[in-house]
Amino acid sequence: MILLPCPWCGPRDAGEFRYVGESASRPDPRTTDPATWRDYLYFRDNPLGWATETWYHRAGCRRYLRMERHTETNEVRSSRQAGASPASPASPASPAGGNR
Ligand SMILES: [Zn+2]
Repeated sequence: MILLPCPWCGPRDAGEFRYVGESASRPDPRTTDPATWRDYLYFRDNPLGWATETWYHRAGCRRYLRMERHTETNEVRSSRQAGASPASPASPASPAGGNR
């Protein structure tokens, strides 16, 4: 069993989560060229090692998380609210979305 840390729910089984994808900054579609937009939509780095990814806790708090996960060992070294900066830890007292 693989446990993933949710900032709000604590360590939970990986089956409760949905993998969303590697974190990548979204280019502005109005100003970017087609090749850059295509790369953003279809190409992934797929690294062997540490990767920053977005996950969705679908069977828990139903929030999006940003995790740093080792793709070979599944070790997780950080987990925070998606969209939060690495310096600011997730704050369970300030819900993202807030529609629960
Ligand atoms: Zn959760």
